Amino acid sequence: MNFDSIKKVQDVDVKNKKVLVRVDYNVPLKDGKVDNNKRIVATEKTIKFLLENNCRVVLMAHLGRPKGKVVPEFSLAPVAAEVEKVFGVPVHFAKDCVGPEADKVVEAAKNGEIVLLENLRFHPEEEKNDAEFAKQLAKHGEIFVQEAFGTVHRAHASTSAIAQYLPGSIGFLVQKEVEFLGKALNNPARPFAAVIGGAKVSDKIMLLNNLLDKVNVLIIGGGMAYTFLKAKGMEVGKSLLDETKIEEAKQVMAKAQEKGVNMLMPVDFRISKEFSETAQAVVSDTIPADMEGMDIGPKTEKLFADELLKCKTIFWNGPMGVFEFPNFAQGSFSIANAMIEATKHGAISIIGGGDSVNVLKKGKIDQKAFSHVSTGGGASMEFVEGKELPGLVALAK
Ligand code: AMP
Repeated sequence: MNFDSIKKVQDVDVKNKKVLVRVDYNVPLKDGKVDNNKRIVATEKTIKFLLENNCRVVLMAHLGRPKGKVVPEFSLAPVAAEVEKVFGVPVHFAKDCVGPEADKVVEAAKNGEIVLLENLRFHPEEEKNDAEFAKQLAKHGEIFVQEAFGTVHRAHASTSAIAQYLPGSIGFLVQKEVEFLGKALNNPARPFAAVIGGAKVSDKIMLLNNLLDKVNVLIIGGGMAYTFLKAKGMEVGKSLLDETKIEEAKQVMAKAQEKGVNMLMPVDFRISKEFSETAQAVVSDTIPADMEGMDIGPKTEKLFADELLKCKTIFWNGPMGVFEFPNFAQGSFSIANAMIEATKHGAISIIGGGDSVNVLKKGKIDQKAFSHVSTGGGASMEFVEGKELPGLVALAK
């Protein structure tokens, strides 16, 4: 798709306007307060730009998965307090995102102030991309700005249908993602490697299939690797295994061979009898019946790192092991370190959001050491697959 056909917020006449902004404020809460405000701070450039232009800024967002019902624990009310702290202007919270209550709060707010609407996903119409619901939301603005990269791969009312009713543009955060991912991945410097880990093979098997059309090297780790290893005939003990995906795993491996993609899998493991924080890691090439694979082993770390050092573009999504437990985080750290090393030698390194970012936090690994750390896990993966993202397509029209 042609990203140049999407308007940028700085190219729009925003002065004194009422601006409806989709943000990704799906932040962790603890004891009724925002526990980590990174996602709010990430939108600073766009929100400040609008406030400096004397706009009335109306923010819409989702929190958690309330599944179309009002669930008090997923209220954005605590987020409003944090938004006020970060931006230092009055923030008015509307207890619903559409209807008379929302209309009243938006109309009462002044230019230079912010309104935060209650969780969009309290209404089932949001995730159904309902046009009438989008029309109700559109009443809150004269123009629309998309600043939630983490949701642009979803066709929801606030990301897709909304663009039928308001002239739309992308904020600075989405611009950075699109520029970076677009440039690096549309025509990647080769060899191009993807490192995919995480727990569930069912979540990612389609992704792997699509990646085989794009990459030269495909590295598989994490819990999902055991379904592939089983498909190759290895005994995997109590490790995570999805029996229903063994056939598909075989097909992925056959396609890799056909396409000449170098597909690498773990050759040794850190295994344990119990799944616990204090479990000791045993390094082994095999997995006995009463043990499970919790992380890749040192030989695999070297195998993967040596391959990554030969690559010019590297995309990583999903941990190599149960990184939340200190004895099983090493494999994921080693991928991060290999990517940093490759970056020093001129490679483009991209972290695809989600749990890989949590790995960096856990290992106190500097995010600046990578070319790009995406704010959207799902969205960045769909970008790599070459899929069109509904939230961007809607604005390109
Ligand atoms: P995902 O949400 O699919 O990206 O999976 C992330 C989760 O995968 C993390 O919470 C990891 O603890 C988990 N994980 C990674 N490797 C393993 C493994 N070998 N066994 C069980 N869980 C794993």
